Amino acid sequence: MRQILGIYGAPRPHWVGDGFPVRTVLSPHDQGGHASPFLLLDYAGPARFTPTTARRGVGAHPHKGFETVTIVYAGEVEHRDSTGAGGIIGPGDVQWMTAGAGIVHEEFHSPAFAARGGAFEVVQLWVNLPARHKGAVPAYQSLAAASIPEAVLPGGAGTLRVIAGAWDGVRGPARTFTPMDLWDLRLGQGREATLAPAEGQTLALLVRRGVIEMNGRETAREAELALFGREGGPVTLRARGDAAALVLAGEPIAEPVVAHGPFVMNTAEEIDAAMREYREGRFGALVG
Ligand code: MN
Repeated sequence: MRQILGIYGAPRPHWVGDGFPVRTVLSPHDQGGHASPFLLLDYAGPARFTPTTARRGVGAHPHKGFETVTIVYAGEVEHRDSTGAGGIIGPGDVQWMTAGAGIVHEEFHSPAFAARGGAFEVVQLWVNLPARHKGAVPAYQSLAAASIPEAVLPGGAGTLRVIAGAWDGVRGPARTFTPMDLWDLRLGQGREATLAPAEGQTLALLVRRGVIEMNGRETAREAELALFGREGGPVTLRARGDAAALVLAGEPIAEPVVAHGPFVMNTAEEIDAAMREYREGRFGALVG
């Protein structure tokens, strides 16, 4: 059976801007490439915000060389970027942004959510791009909740929402540059599911609710990320209490990763070039 390489948590959240109390459970500096193509996972919340007229979030900042995937479970995030695109993503919605050659964007609570306040829970995942796609034209895919299919697990053990990739013939709407699966899993109390990614594929699991027992041995609990080895067959999950988890699986990108702040490239020289391009305004700017 697949070995568990590590279970990663972050005891205390830190703030990204003034809108995102995140726990960084995966980072390009901490897992030695074992999570490739996944670079970073910031789990924001669950938290409650009081009503405000202020703008809470992160102002204009760049990204280059990878994709950001923002999954909203509660609350609302408003996004605007230098391609002129923008939008609001609410519960169940996903935004898949390709920073590629370089983008500038801002991420705030939507004015309506800020005014109303309440529960906030968001995942931001960074997915690497292989060298041949790091210069991709910046873009984003707005994946509305209604476009994300949900499969029922064998025996009614739970449900699985397919954001990217496929599960048992059910295909998710996200277009990806390299093969990967991104699934929102819900498992009933005491119920089981088996994950069987191809040998050689990365597998990781972020627990959002409950406790999940893996291969009858170790457990991961709320806000912990379990990272598995790439060989050894399937993984059996069993829920203690009703459980919810985000499952990440994918083909690793076998290239050097040099990550510096909002830029992820293959070499230090490319990072220097990215910083220069951003300073020179070549990623564009937010209009209005
Ligand atoms: Mn960003």
